[in-house]
Amino acid sequence: MHYISTRGGIAPIGFAQAVMMGLATDGGLLVPTAIPTVDAERLRMWAGLSFPELALEITTLFIGDDIPRADLKALIDRSYSTFTHPEVTPLVTAGTTRILELFHGPTAAFKDIALQWLGNVFEYLLEREGGQLNIVGATSGDTGSAAIYGVRGKARIQIFILHPKGRVSPIQERQMTTVLDANVHNIAVRGTFDDAQSIVKTLFNDLPFKSAYQLGAVNSINWARILAQTVYYFYAWGRLTGGEINQRISFSVPTGNFGDVFAGYIAKRMGLPIERLIIATNRNAILTRFIQTGVYAVEQQVHQTLSPAMDIQLASNFERYLYYLYNGDTAQVRARLDDLQRTGQLSVSDALHQQAQADFAAVAVNDAETLDQIRATEQASGYILCPHTAVGVRAAQDWPDAVCLATAHPAKFGEAVAEAIGREAPPPLALQGLLDQAARCSELDATAAAVKAHIEATLSGVASA
Ligand SMILES: *Cc1c(COP(=O)(O)O)cnc(C)c1O
Repeated sequence: MHYISTRGGIAPIGFAQAVMMGLATDGGLLVPTAIPTVDAERLRMWAGLSFPELALEITTLFIGDDIPRADLKALIDRSYSTFTHPEVTPLVTAGTTRILELFHGPTAAFKDIALQWLGNVFEYLLEREGGQLNIVGATSGDTGSAAIYGVRGKARIQIFILHPKGRVSPIQERQMTTVLDANVHNIAVRGTFDDAQSIVKTLFNDLPFKSAYQLGAVNSINWARILAQTVYYFYAWGRLTGGEINQRISFSVPTGNFGDVFAGYIAKRMGLPIERLIIATNRNAILTRFIQTGVYAVEQQVHQTLSPAMDIQLASNFERYLYYLYNGDTAQVRARLDDLQRTGQLSVSDALHQQAQADFAAVAVNDAETLDQIRATEQASGYILCPHTAVGVRAAQDWPDAVCLATAHPAKFGEAVAEAIGREAPPPLALQGLLDQAARCSELDATAAAVKAHIEATLSGVASA
C-alpha cells in the first residue's frame, strides 16, 4: 500500500514513511493510493472477531508488508490491553438509543483508540529504523493527555505539550501534568489556546529547527489515527448484524476536526454496509453548513460551547474529503484550497454538493439542546452522556436506529453534566485521585522564542544524560 498527498506534490511512499511524515511535505494530507475493499464473505467472517483481531485485519490492508504481521499483532494487542473494558469499544443501549462507548482507554476519551496504537507504532518504527522523534503539540484539553499517555516512557520519543495556563479544566490539566515519565514535558503558557497553537505553528514553520530536532505532530492529520478509528465502525456493525450483509447501519458522530466521522466514510468506501453517516456539530458548524449549502465558509471566530473538543473553526481532515469528492483530482483540491485561503470560503458544483449530501447528513446542536439531551437521556434511562456525545444523540433524533458514538466519559465534563442533571457522573478509575497526585509542569511566557529555548535546553539535557 502506498500513500500520496491530497495536493499531488509528493512521490508515493509506504505506510511507515507516511506515519513518520504526518503532514505531507507539500502541505497536503496523506491518503492511500487506493482504498482496499472488503467483500461480503470477509465481512461475515469479521463479524465474529474481537476488537484487536479486527484491528489486525483492517490495518494489515493499509500497511501491507511494511510491518510484519506477527509484529503488528503484538503492537495491536499491547495497544488495547490498556483499555479497561474487555470489549474495548462496547455497544450499549440507553433506553432505546444505541451507544458505542469509545472512552474506556487511559484518558477516558475516544482519542485513546488511535493514540495508544500510534505511540506503539512510533516506538516500533524508531527502534527498527533508528532516530528520535520530538513531538510538539498544543491542546485545549483531550488531545494532549491522550498523546501523552500514548508515548509516556517510550524510548527515542520526547513529547512537549503546551496548554493555556488555567484555561483547561482541572481534571484535564491533571491528566497531563501527573504523568511523571522523564520523556513527558508539559508546558503551561501564559496565554490562550490560540497563542499556544500559534507557537506550535511557528516552531513547525522554523524549518532549520524542525529538521535539527526531528519535530513530529500528533494531531488528527496523521493517517494512522484515521485508520485506527475505522475499526470500531466495523466492530459495531458486526455486533449488531452478526455479519448479515443486507443490514445497513447508520452512525451519528460528534465532529470537530472531521477525523472520527471521516474514518466512518473510509469504512463505507471499503464496503461496510453503512446507511447514513450523521455529522453532529455544535455551534461551530462549518461542516453542517457545507453539507446544507455546498459552501465551506470560515466564521469570524470560534464559539465557546459546552462541547469544547469540537470548538474548531476549520476541520483539518476536510481536505481529505475534498480529495475524494474530486475523485483524486489534486489540481482541483489545490484550487479550492486557494479559494479558501484567499476569500475565507470555498464552494463546490451542484453535482458535488449532491454527492456530499448523499455521503453525509449533518445537524448542528446548540448548548441548550445539548443540556436538554443530557437531561432527557438521563431521565429516560439513567444513562449519563458527555456533552459531545449528547450533541451526537440529539443530531440523530430523526434516525432512532443510528449508533451514536460516545466520545468521552461524562465525568470528564462534570460542569456541563451538573448543569443538566444537578450532579456529576461518578468518575471511572482513570480519573480518580488525580487532584491529589504529584504533578510536574513548566510555566512559560506565550512566545515562540521562550518555548523554543525551553525545548532546546530540555533536549540538550536528554542528549547528555
Ligand atoms: C476530539 C473530540 C471530538 C471530535 O473529534 P474529531 O475527530 O475532531 O471530529 C469529539 N468529542 C471528544 C470528546 C473529543 O475529544
